[in-house]
Amino acid sequence: MQLDHLRQRLRDLGAKPTHTSRLLRQWVNARPLEGGRSLAEHFLPLPVREQLPALAAELAGLATVRSAHPAEDGAERLLVGLADGQTVESVLLPRDGVCVSTQVGCAVGCVFCMTGQGGLLRQVSSGEIVAQVVLARQRRPVKKVVFMGMGEPAHNLDAVMDAITVLGLEGGIGHKQLVFSTVGDARVFERLPQGPVKPALALSLHSTFADKRAELLPRAPRWEPAELVEAAERYARATGYPIQYQWTLLAGINDGDDELERIATLLQGRYAMMNFIPYNTNEGLPFSRPDGERAAEMARHLNRRGVLTRLRWSAGQDIDGGCGQLRARESVPRGR
Ligand code: SF4
Repeated sequence: MQLDHLRQRLRDLGAKPTHTSRLLRQWVNARPLEGGRSLAEHFLPLPVREQLPALAAELAGLATVRSAHPAEDGAERLLVGLADGQTVESVLLPRDGVCVSTQVGCAVGCVFCMTGQGGLLRQVSSGEIVAQVVLARQRRPVKKVVFMGMGEPAHNLDAVMDAITVLGLEGGIGHKQLVFSTVGDARVFERLPQGPVKPALALSLHSTFADKRAELLPRAPRWEPAELVEAAERYARATGYPIQYQWTLLAGINDGDDELERIATLLQGRYAMMNFIPYNTNEGLPFSRPDGERAAEMARHLNRRGVLTRLRWSAGQDIDGGCGQLRARESVPRGR
């Protein structure tokens, strides 16, 4: 269900924009749609009130928890079932965040990512994106939403922007706490500044060498890293939020001194933060993470060079911490 279809249906039943907004607010804040006296007080038209039980059931069916996997660090990975039987992953993050998926599968094909190995199966609708947040809110408070789960949000831009608008305007989530993560797509830099809610931007860089980056992210747009950083910088300056560069640390591939030098040159003086994320081993993929001391030294080096850098471990390391692993495991027949 795209939220636009929902809005149209409500309009057809006689709802005014304020009614629709009120209903969306109830839903996205995980409050019951029906029944509340407060809603009756908002004079919903009778045809809308009559449809509320069916509508509530439909929204509840958009995303359901297939299995939940709590981790020691306070994260919880959810395998989320969609109405047509497809599944995606959401991760409840420590400190009131949730990471949501925007596509079933992904067409970018990053060589180190389990989700990328199976290609794109279908888009996740705006309703299904918001429904992942609602599911999370049924389990714990959510004050931050990162679009870093399965999929490339730029490849499902209309739906993701609509979800961002609803979460920002009706869901009470600070605009800076909505984090759009992308491998870099020109449409992102054109469209995001025009939306009523401007999210923060996370940019997956992974290498400062264009050729190596193209090998790691085979179907990402081909940017010279310096041009990509320049485009991101304009967005950062326009919104007032720093860019979060994402760098999955792969031993022997992008953890060398050559990369460190070039990162320093690229990002010194930029409104940016570098996040080093040591690779989380995926069975069947030929990559490993650098040892902890090397990763820490890389972060210290960049900080000394004036590039704000954090070493981040992906949430829920102890429960198949890489995006797509739960789903991949679930689709492997038992006994293999
Ligand atoms: Fe897609 Fe992200 Fe996986 Fe790359 S890392 S294949 S962009 S889901």
